[in-house]
Amino acid sequence: MGAGNGWYCKSCGVEEYYPVGAGLMSLNVEETRECIARGEFGEIARQLLSKDFPLDVNTVDEHAFYRCPECGKLIGGGVVRFFVGKDDFELMLPVVPEECPACGARFEFVDDRKPVSEREIDAYVAEILESGCPNCGSKDVHQLAIMWD
Ligand SMILES: [Zn+2]
Ligand SMILES: [Zn+2]
Repeated sequence: MGAGNGWYCKSCGVEEYYPVGAGLMSLNVEETRECIARGEFGEIARQLLSKDFPLDVNTVDEHAFYRCPECGKLIGGGVVRFFVGKDDFELMLPVVPEECPACGARFEFVDDRKPVSEREIDAYVAEILESGCPNCGSKDVHQLAIMWD
């Protein structure tokens, strides 16, 4: 099951939606695994997928959001999770966008490259509902919540 949170503005029509959860996971995406094997995600990740590694490592691509260090907006990116067995081992690799599409800030100097949690997304949406549309300032902002199986 997946769910998402978001908001829309009745005055200017702007809407933003932040989907999270299981509905957006893809197992062992070949394109991702090829990038990892080429070392594009760093040495540790490359070794986990190499033939010399004694265990079968699965990867899961997930959608995630990161907070822009400049404008504070939530920017879409991803994470790749590595796991062996069910819960035996897990490593999370953030896939952060290079720059913020809203303000152009570069993400490369962010030390803490953790995606925002669902709680943080909820808080972010609650703040916009409270303070008004970040685009036009209207208070006619409503929550956009979608669930799917
Ligand atoms: Zn920004
Ligand atoms: Zn607006």
